[in-house]
Amino acid sequence: MTKFSDLSLNPKVLKAVEEAGYETPTPIQAGAIPPALEGQDVLGIAQTGTGKTASFTLPLITALARGRARARMPRSLVLCPTRELAAQVAENFDTYAKYVKLTKALLIGGVSFKEQDALIDKGVDVLIATPGRLLDHFERGKLILNDVKVMVVDEADRMLDMGFIPDIERIFSLTPFTRQTLFFSATMAPEIERITNTFLSNPAKIEVARQATASDTIKQALVSFKPTRRDQSAKQKRQMLREIISSEGEACKNAIIFCNRKVDVDIVAKSMKKHGLNAEAIHGDLDQSHRMRTLDGFRDGSITFLVASDVAARGLDIPNVSHVLNYDVPSHAEDYVHRIGRTGRAGREGRAFTIAIPADDKYLGAIESLVGQPIPAVDAPWTPSARGSTPTEDKRADDKPAGRRSTRGRGDKQSDQPAKAPANQSASEDKPRNRRGGGRGRDDRGPKTVGMGDHMPGFIALSFEERRGGPPADSTESTKPKPKRRTRSKSADETPKTEDDAETAA
Ligand code: AMP
Repeated sequence: MTKFSDLSLNPKVLKAVEEAGYETPTPIQAGAIPPALEGQDVLGIAQTGTGKTASFTLPLITALARGRARARMPRSLVLCPTRELAAQVAENFDTYAKYVKLTKALLIGGVSFKEQDALIDKGVDVLIATPGRLLDHFERGKLILNDVKVMVVDEADRMLDMGFIPDIERIFSLTPFTRQTLFFSATMAPEIERITNTFLSNPAKIEVARQATASDTIKQALVSFKPTRRDQSAKQKRQMLREIISSEGEACKNAIIFCNRKVDVDIVAKSMKKHGLNAEAIHGDLDQSHRMRTLDGFRDGSITFLVASDVAARGLDIPNVSHVLNYDVPSHAEDYVHRIGRTGRAGREGRAFTIAIPADDKYLGAIESLVGQPIPAVDAPWTPSARGSTPTEDKRADDKPAGRRSTRGRGDKQSDQPAKAPANQSASEDKPRNRRGGGRGRDDRGPKTVGMGDHMPGFIALSFEERRGGPPADSTESTKPKPKRRTRSKSADETPKTEDDAETAA
C-alpha cells in the first residue's frame, strides 16, 4: 500500500499531513499526487468525501513551496462552485501549508472587494475563488492571470449545473497555455468531457469508486406515504420528518435535512423551530456571513438540524453527521448520492432516510437505477389521517400552536410561502441548472386547491348573493354556485385564498 512518505511531497507538507492524522493516502490521493507532482495535468473523477481536496492541495503546496508571487499575479488558482466549498478548500490549505510560507486569498461573493483587493495587491501564491468573483476582480483590472502556473477546477460537474462553464472557459483562456491543470469532477457529462478535451493536455486520468458504492456505513431507508390530500402533502411531510426524528431517538444526534427548493428549506426550518427542534436553514439566498455562522454552529453542535439545499450543502465536509433526512426525493439522481454521503463519513455509521410520496416514483426509479439497488423501504413511523385534513384543522395539528399564531410578522409570511417560487432563484451559487433546465421537476404540484374548491354547496352561494342584495332580475346565474368566492359566513381574514394562504391562515 502506498504511504504518504512514498509520494515525494515536501517534508513540511508531510509533517502537516501526519499531524492531520492521515495514515495512508486515499485512492484519489495515491493516484493523483504522483502525476501532479511531475507537472502533468490530472483529470480526477472523484466525489467529495474521497479525500480529493488533499489530492490537489498537497502537490500544489509542494510545487509552490519555492518562489514568490508578484503583486496582483497569483501563482495558482483553485476554482470552486460555491463559497462554502471555496472556504473549505482554504481551510484545508491552511492545515496542509502550515509549515510552508505561502500566501493565499479567498475570493468569494458576499465579502467586500476592498479586503480582497488588499490581499491580491500584496501578491498571493494561491487564489481560491468562485468563478464569478474571480472574473469580477479581473474585470476591475485588479488581477493579472499571466503568472498562473497551476489551475485547479474542483467539482466541475457542479459548475456545469450552475451555469459556470462559460466562466471557466474564459478563465482558462486568460491563464497561460503552459499552466498545469488539475481538474476534478464527480461525473463526466459530455460537456465536461468537451472542456477537458479542450483545456487539458494529455492528463493522467484517475477515477475512484462512486461514493454510493463505497459507503457501506450508511444505512438507507425509504419512508413512503400517501398524503390524505394533495394540498396537505407538504404539511404531512413535515410531520413525517418530525416523526422520523423522534422515532430515531438518541441515535439522531444531528441531521442534515435536504429540500429540493430554497423556499421549502425556509419553511421546513421554520416549522421545525416551531416544534421545538434546534434547526437552521442554509441556502444560497442567505448572506455569506449568515451561512458561515450557521455552518459553524452545525459543526460545533450548537445547531442540531441543518435544513439545506443541495448546492449549499454540496461537498461540505462536516464530520459526525448522524443522519441525513431527505424531506424531498431529489429530482437529480446523483444528488441522492451526494446527500447521503454527508453521513457515514470516514467509516462512521450513518443513517439516511428519504421521505417519498407517490409523485416521487419516477425520481426514485432514477436513483435506484443509478445506485444499482432499491432503497430499503421501512414502515412509516406515522400515518396521516384524513381526519383533520381541512387547512384549519391541520393548522392546529401542525404548524401553528394556538398561542403563536398571532405572533407572525411580515418576514414570516414571506418565508412561509410554499410551492410558489420557481426552483431557479437569484443567488449566485444557485443559478439555473442550464444542463438540465426546463422539465417538469418537483415544482409542479398540480392545481392549487382554493378555499372550498368546487365542492361548495349551492345554498352557500345563494346566501352570498342575498347578502349583496340578491341577483339582478335578468340574471341567469343566480343559483349557480360560484366556486372560489368568499361566503358570507367567513370574513376576509378567515378564508384561505390560495394554497399558500391555506398553509398560513390561522
Ligand atoms: P474531501 O473529499 O477532500 O472533502 O475529504 C473528505 C475528508 O477526508 C476530510 O475530512 C479530510 O480531512 C479527510 N481525509 C483526506 N485525506 C485523508 C486521508 N488520507 N486519510 C484520512 N482522512 C483523510
